[in-house]
Amino acid sequence: MPIIRKKLIAGNWKMNKSAGDGAALAKELLEAIGRETAVDVVLCPPFTALESVGHALEGQALKLGAQNMHPERNGAFTGEISAEMLRTLYVSHVILGHSERRQFFGDTDAFVNQKVLAALAHELRPILCVGETLAERESGATLTVVQRQLEAGLSGVKAEQITTVIVAYEPVWAIGTGKVATTEQAQEVHAFIRELLGQLFGAALAQKVRILYGGSMKPANAPELLAQKDIDGGLIGGASLEARSFIELVKAALAAV
Ligand code: PEP
Repeated sequence: MPIIRKKLIAGNWKMNKSAGDGAALAKELLEAIGRETAVDVVLCPPFTALESVGHALEGQALKLGAQNMHPERNGAFTGEISAEMLRTLYVSHVILGHSERRQFFGDTDAFVNQKVLAALAHELRPILCVGETLAERESGATLTVVQRQLEAGLSGVKAEQITTVIVAYEPVWAIGTGKVATTEQAQEVHAFIRELLGQLFGAALAQKVRILYGGSMKPANAPELLAQKDIDGGLIGGASLEARSFIELVKAALAAV
């Protein structure tokens, strides 16, 4: 019997939405898709809106995610937030290794790995982002880069933990640019990631891990991407900031189930 992976649509709001605006958007989304349970939906507001959005989502199927965290429990890390702190706000997911963190804030593979392990230790589901830059794609290094980021990011993760990890393939050249990877380009890398997960954790577990696509996913291109064998959902930036487009994306995922 084929393994059915529940599709997941996550909205990465980045540095957008105040506490009030975030809660208002969450309420709008709840009205339209709050009762949908066939697809997992995760909202990732900035830290300052986690509490208000969390209140809006209380008792509902939509889940709350953070966009980053520090691996230590507490201490002298000015400006940082720990897994434990996120847990007190009822956060269940955390985006780690996003290319903007890697590019602008110096997150290395080793640091991302520390965060993944700390998230798992605190029962947070990491959404581990991997993906190549345009220069890396053009030089034919896509799979090498993705392999390095994935293996390093998952170092020390135990087989029994891997199905709580969500991987997001996000070609850096497609993020916020309007340039979406073709379905063939995306599926090729997703299949490669699943094969690598199979080598690391065994084929049966690899079949259960969700691999999201991220990079200018919109209602217009989502149905084709979501129909690919190894694309289990989307990590959405720009199109998650408006209720209408995000709802359409969730509906596209529902239609792809
Ligand atoms: C992202 O930053 O995770 C992302 C996919 O952004 P966008 O959808 O805007 O390309």
